[in-house]
Amino acid sequence: MNTAYIYLQLYKLFDDVTPVPVDCGQLCDKACCKGDDSGMFLFPGEKEVFNLLNPDWVRIEKTDFTYDYNGKTYTTPIAMCQGYCDRYQRPLACRIFPLTPYLDKNGHMDIIVDPRAKGVCPMAKGFYLEDFDAVFIKNIKKAFSLLMKNKQFKAFMVEYSKYLDEFKRFYK
Ligand code: SF4
Ligand code: SF4
Repeated sequence: MNTAYIYLQLYKLFDDVTPVPVDCGQLCDKACCKGDDSGMFLFPGEKEVFNLLNPDWVRIEKTDFTYDYNGKTYTTPIAMCQGYCDRYQRPLACRIFPLTPYLDKNGHMDIIVDPRAKGVCPMAKGFYLEDFDAVFIKNIKKAFSLLMKNKQFKAFMVEYSKYLDEFKRFYK
């Protein structure tokens, strides 16, 4: 199956569910979408969504972030926008911001406040996980529990969690 259809189904979990039940963009003038070139990592297989829909507001680029799976090295793409998008086509990372999945040392998946968000997002700076909407957290768990059933996705998560550790150290 084309992975685009999996992601398009997962996107629906966040069409109407947001980090908090109010428009948090009013707190910060949508700081997470500001900047001439904002970018969010695409999760493994998610690039297929953009190959399929081919939206004109996004540019997909390569990053230096790689992970190994099955003897091959994979490069992680990033979706670059200019501060606007079609809400129903935005990447998964935008939908779950400022939270993110994280694998602990035992390989157990947690949902955490994204340490990369702490310099940008007032909620990431001031909120504990339990301050976010319970349905939002539940849907993130649901989406990533499903994606984690794929071995390549799990290999990505191992590297991604190490990458987040670097930011966790910085924002301790
Ligand atoms: S930076 Fe945080 S508070 Fe502001 S719009 Fe983005 S998620 Fe909401
Ligand atoms: S794709 Fe949309 S939600 Fe994501 S950073 Fe750009 S404008 Fe914001």
